[in-house]
Amino acid sequence: MEKNSKKRKDYLNWDEYFMSIAKLTAGRSKDPNTQVGACIVSSDNRVLSTGYNGAPNHFHDDQFPWDREGNPLETKYMFVCHAEANAIDNYRGYKKEFEGARIYVDLFPCNECAKRIIQSGIKEVIYLSDKYQDSDSTKASKLMFDTCGVTYRPLEKEHQKILKITLKPDVGVEYEKEI
Ligand SMILES: [Zn+2]
Repeated sequence: MEKNSKKRKDYLNWDEYFMSIAKLTAGRSKDPNTQVGACIVSSDNRVLSTGYNGAPNHFHDDQFPWDREGNPLETKYMFVCHAEANAIDNYRGYKKEFEGARIYVDLFPCNECAKRIIQSGIKEVIYLSDKYQDSDSTKASKLMFDTCGVTYRPLEKEHQKILKITLKPDVGVEYEKEI
């Protein structure tokens, strides 16, 4: 007879849990077009840090140019801090904790974040979307990851579920297994 047979069966596994945190963190982004969240996790499954794409500290959100086109100085690209970079920079602990850590992120990291990830000691990237896979930036990220020993994988299809979190008392997390 199986021990712990009364254990709940449909609890979130680690990948689902940490990707959920990354997704939830994306909910803080003010970017009207792209909301990205990241969650850095130690090799023994502790959340070390989170981040989302946003303005640098003290750059007022209302003055931040969220445009994608036009004069470069009036677009977000010059100024926005990516989710992965923010997750690394938001960490207030001992950076050695990043050795062998992994990062969960919505979108495959750009080449600038890839460099930060490699230098931080993070060894694995788990992502949901690779929609810019044909861009030079993503190709450069993969080249660097492959060369520098950082592995990457998408969250497996069977773990891509829909969660419904209700911020009210006495309501558990509900989710659908099939999308
Ligand atoms: Zn980036």
